[in-house]
Amino acid sequence: MSNFLNEKTARLAPYVPGEQPKDKKYIKLNTNESPFPPSKRALSLAKKEMANCNLYPDPDCSALISEIAKTVKVKPENVIVSNGSDEVLNFAFIAYCSENAPAIFPDITYGFYKVFAGVNGVPYKEIALKGDFSIDVNDYLDKNGVIFIANPNAPTGLTIPLSDIEKLLKKNKNRVVVIDEAYVDFGGESAVKLIKKYDNLLVTQTFSKSRSMAGARLGFGVASEKIINDLKTVKYSTNPYNVNRVTAAMGIGALKDKKYFSDNISSIIKNREDTTLALKNLGFECLDSKTNFIFAKSDKILGENLYLKLKEKGILVRHFNKERISDYIRVTVGSASEMQAFITAVKEILGE
Ligand code: PMP
Repeated sequence: MSNFLNEKTARLAPYVPGEQPKDKKYIKLNTNESPFPPSKRALSLAKKEMANCNLYPDPDCSALISEIAKTVKVKPENVIVSNGSDEVLNFAFIAYCSENAPAIFPDITYGFYKVFAGVNGVPYKEIALKGDFSIDVNDYLDKNGVIFIANPNAPTGLTIPLSDIEKLLKKNKNRVVVIDEAYVDFGGESAVKLIKKYDNLLVTQTFSKSRSMAGARLGFGVASEKIINDLKTVKYSTNPYNVNRVTAAMGIGALKDKKYFSDNISSIIKNREDTTLALKNLGFECLDSKTNFIFAKSDKILGENLYLKLKEKGILVRHFNKERISDYIRVTVGSASEMQAFITAVKEILGE
């Protein structure tokens, strides 16, 4: 840390991304990426667009936004695009959280929410998940502030029904509710359809997981036109060209390639269910995941130990050194052969 750093920045506890080691080639099941490459259509549009990179991108991203709007069945005025969904989440912290409107989120959820609160200098309140790791929306009904709920939640993989989200929206129409749907395509139900009814709802989604574009950084928010305009104020005050030309072109290709998308989702769901069954047969307890990862624990081995032993065998999973979940590992669902290698390694480690 230099002597020049201001106090606010010196106090920050930055987000720690999943490790990306370079010492050898690992089977990467630690950052919830897709094992499948981007769609061919996405790649060919991206390649063409590279030739135009001497020009700034369209700051409004009109073509991409109109494709997203068509896909999620809203109007283009209801969509904003961002550099990964992290960015639109940060826009929401900037736009809506304040000393009087703390961010409110579960104690076990996406670790970046706390970091966004920190970097924006706004308070946050954590609400404990129930003993079974579920979210009870009744715990949020009377809270004033801005609610952030990942649905499905991470790293648990559990969902809440839309009726619960509606309960939150209805209870206090003067409070913004952000539903982070990074993993919704793997079996959750999207709250996007509620934006017509509730103008205090913001739904965020990403191309990082189900559309194989984590490296291209593309996310979006869907909300009432007023909320989208608030977020645009933030975007145009920070980085009007937040989505580059190549990524925008790729995004359009990915959305048009509907069959590739649905085939990949089906594979991931099948691999998730097969792996969950195999883990259960080995005595693991697995939460009911509706995502592209499995949150699992065994009473035969501690989470950290299993993580380290898998790493020795060239398989990376994620372990969180955090109260209540330190017994667990989070395993990204990869291809069938990757999951086979994972299960074989677990069997060897357990001596089965
Ligand atoms: N929300 C959740 C719950 C996540 O796990 C992630 C991925 N780490 C994100 C949002 C952000 O993903 P991205 O910025 O790649 O869209």
